[in-house]
Amino acid sequence: MPDQLLLERLTANLTRLRLPHLRDRLPETLARAEREGASYLQLLDTLFEEEVAGKEQRRLDTALRSSGLPYVKSLDEFDFTAQPHLDRRAVLNLFDLTFLTRHENVFFLGPPGVGKTHLAVALAVKAAHAGYTIHGTTMSDLIAKLREDQGNAARGRLRRYSRAALVVVDEVGYTPITREECHLFYQFVASRYERASTVITSNKAFSDWAELFHDPVLVTAVLDRLLHHSTVINIKGHSFRLRGKHREEDPNTPPPH
Ligand code: ADP
Ligand code: MG
Repeated sequence: MPDQLLLERLTANLTRLRLPHLRDRLPETLARAEREGASYLQLLDTLFEEEVAGKEQRRLDTALRSSGLPYVKSLDEFDFTAQPHLDRRAVLNLFDLTFLTRHENVFFLGPPGVGKTHLAVALAVKAAHAGYTIHGTTMSDLIAKLREDQGNAARGRLRRYSRAALVVVDEVGYTPITREECHLFYQFVASRYERASTVITSNKAFSDWAELFHDPVLVTAVLDRLLHHSTVINIKGHSFRLRGKHREEDPNTPPPH
């Protein structure tokens, strides 16, 4: 059979077998293998590597697109020099992702603009790369979803916010919640306790959580479970959004020349 017909049949078979990346790269990879005198084994290996990489990329794109995260950023994009008081080693340790295998939680605490969401997002993105299921939500969206699923335990259990190996709950403490909503949040926390990791960002110190949750007994129960196995990262510095601006405000910083 002439090469052209063989190539057409092979292409059609690769489509039927759902190996689109291998199929699309086939002519080019074949030509290169011939040029370089690659062995059959090397050629097959290259082609299947293409397929695996392509499928992996698509899985990742889908996971990130549907993650609910506010944006996609990485640790590489985080400028530690902008936060000199941040415990860099503690942050870097998180990025080995072992906290996920231990089902531990992470807190990023600090005022607005210091990079809490950025670091939480970067952790989730790294986790997605490593094959973990992730989900991102703000506290107010989470509460809304929990209310929606209230009384429907089956649906609640199927939802990504309860199932994912890593859930980011962003902006805890920005909006007050009712006593009933506190209970829903408690149930969410209890259902994930020692089973999956929750990453929380908050502009409130733990001492302010009691006010947020109305009920001191409930807040103790929530924090007890969240903090039992956890890493707390405090970011005390200036807002990254306002960088450059606080120079003029800070009387201890000499003016730039
Ligand atoms: P918040 O602490 O309020 O959650 P964000 O993490 O959303 O703040 O940070 C606000 C913006 O500034 C984002 O675009 C984020 O990527 C950026 N940012 C914050 N801190 C840093 C940093 N140290 N290096 C690079 N970008 C940063
Ligand atoms: Mg934020």
